[in-house]
Order: sequence, then C-alpha cells, then structure tokens
Amino acid sequence: MPAALIDGKAIAAEIRKDIAIEVERLKSTRGVTPGLAVILVGDNPASKTYVRNKERACKDVGIYSEVHRLPASSSQAEVLELIDRLNENPAIDGILVQLPLPDHIDEKACIHRIRPEKDVDGFHPVNVGNMVIGDRCFLPCTPHGIIVLLERSGVEIAGKNAVVVGRSNIVGKPVSMLLLQRHATVTVCHSKTRDLGSVTRGADILVVAVGKPRMIAGDMIKEGAVVIDVGVNQVGDRLVGDVDFESALLKASAITPVPGGVGPMTITMLLKNTVLSAEARASAGA
Ligand code: NDP
Repeated sequence: MPAALIDGKAIAAEIRKDIAIEVERLKSTRGVTPGLAVILVGDNPASKTYVRNKERACKDVGIYSEVHRLPASSSQAEVLELIDRLNENPAIDGILVQLPLPDHIDEKACIHRIRPEKDVDGFHPVNVGNMVIGDRCFLPCTPHGIIVLLERSGVEIAGKNAVVVGRSNIVGKPVSMLLLQRHATVTVCHSKTRDLGSVTRGADILVVAVGKPRMIAGDMIKEGAVVIDVGVNQVGDRLVGDVDFESALLKASAITPVPGGVGPMTITMLLKNTVLSAEARASAGA
C-alpha cells in the first residue's frame, strides 16, 4: 500500500487558526499586538520570497510585522545597530535576521546580538543551550515543526529508531535533540557516514535534511518507516525534496511531500514563537 501523505499545509493551516485566535485574545484582553521584525540584507531572490511569505503569514493571523530591507553594501555595524534598536523597541516581540547574509557580515555576531527573549528563530546560543537541557526556550522553527508534524500525525516517537541525515545547526542537530528528548533512539548521519543506506534502513523515523535532490531512494528506506523530507531543491522548474518521492512512497507508511510538507510548518512555528514572546510581554506588563 502506498504511504499516507503527511499534509503539512493542512496541519499548518489548523495551527494558524489557533494562533489567530490567540492573537485576537492578546489584542482584546491584554492590549498587546504581537510584533515581528525581519531584517533582510541584500537581494538574494530566495530570501526575498521567504521574507514575503513571512510577512503574508503574519498579516493572515493578525501579527504586526515590519521588514527592514538593507542594501547588500550595508556594514556589519549598521546591521548590529538596527538589531540594538529593535531589541529596545517594546512593540517588537521577535527579531529575525534572514540568512544567508552577505559574506562581509558575520552571521554569528548578528544572531548573538539579538536578545534571547526576542530570538524567535531559536538560533541564539542561550536558546540552543536551553533546548539541549530541555528548559524553556524558543525552539528552532523547522525542527519544532517536524516534531509537531509527527505528533499531529499520530506517529509514536518514544522507543523508535530515528535516523537524521544532515547535522546542520538549523535542522539536523536540533531535530536530533528534540527526537532524543521524546525518547527516540537517535542516529545522526552526515557526509562522512559510511554506507548510509545500511543506517537509513534501520530507521522507523527517517528525517532527511541534506540539500541534495532525491538522494534517498526507496531502497534506502525500511518497509513501513515514517519519512520526513526537509530538503527543498530547485530542479528545472520544480521543487523537489532530498527523498526520491516516487520510490519512497512504495516503502514508507507515511511521508511528507515537497512542497507542502515541512515548509509550511517552519513559518507556522515562527508565528507561534512570536505569540509566545508577546504573551511574555503581556504577563510582564500585567
Ligand atoms: P546544510 O547544507 O547546512 O547541511 C547539510 C547536511 O547534509 C550537512 O550536515 C552535510 O554533512 C550533510 N550531507 C551532505 N552530503 C551528504 C551525504 N552525501 N550523505 C549524508 N549527509 C550529507 O543544509 P540545511 O540543514 O540548512 O538544509 C538542508 C536542506 O533542508 C536544504 O535543502 C534546505 O533548503 C532545506 N531546508 C528546508 C527548510 C524548510 O523549512 N522546509 C528549512 C531549512 C532548510 P557535513 O556536516 O558532513 O557537511
């Protein structure tokens, strides 16, 4: 039987409805409008699209958003000054620096400059550290979105063998940690992993975040596995994942499509973090 589709678009839409209700509640009962500031430096076309999508998503749920579009020639000092101003701005609950930044700007310095209480991307070392020890923090959006997709699809995580292919700081490492916290037995693979297929075939839950079109084929997947394809690759005029969807469909019990799987969850978790930050502001002012 072909795999069931894990419909990230539909799950994200459900969660966004709840977020919109929460935003309305914050506005009407606490007088607080959640606010997100996005910093976009330069004119990378993919980044421009991502930022537009974030703006639209904020508008749809009633979150105030402002986009600071800076020229690619901006200095690091200018970006840091802007972050400082946004850190001080009480109407802004979340600050996001759209990556990648131009080469002459140090991404780490920018991320470290954002106050952890406004780091709704969950990239600041304070949030990363708190995530690792399981304390309250902003969870990074894509990994958190993956966990919510699994949970909302009724996939049991505890006790399962989870294999994560990719060890980036924004997807692979944090999603491994979140799976571990939910009691999966986790294996993390990367470009130096030997005989990748022998590892992936042991996965009950397989998360692939590599950035190589269709590199995981059906013969690398265990019968009945749940497959989460994080990859987004432009191939000709199509977007494809890191998993060869057609052959994977015949082996997996459930799989995320690309597009329409993990992608919509990432922005949804960003909205959620912004609302959580605004709730903290409302409570602090109460
Ligand atoms: P990175 O390039 O930062 O990391 C890729 C990882 O894949 C690295 O850890 C690398 O290993 C590993 N890798 C590369 N080649 C192989 C191989 N042959 N076998 C096993 N592992 C390999 O990518 P990201 O994590 O940022 O993104 C991964 C994909 O997910 C991309 O397609 C990106 O566009 C997509 N993405 C999608 C999001 C969404 O919302 N849907 C959000 C974020 C990313 P090593 O460390 O050894 O180099």
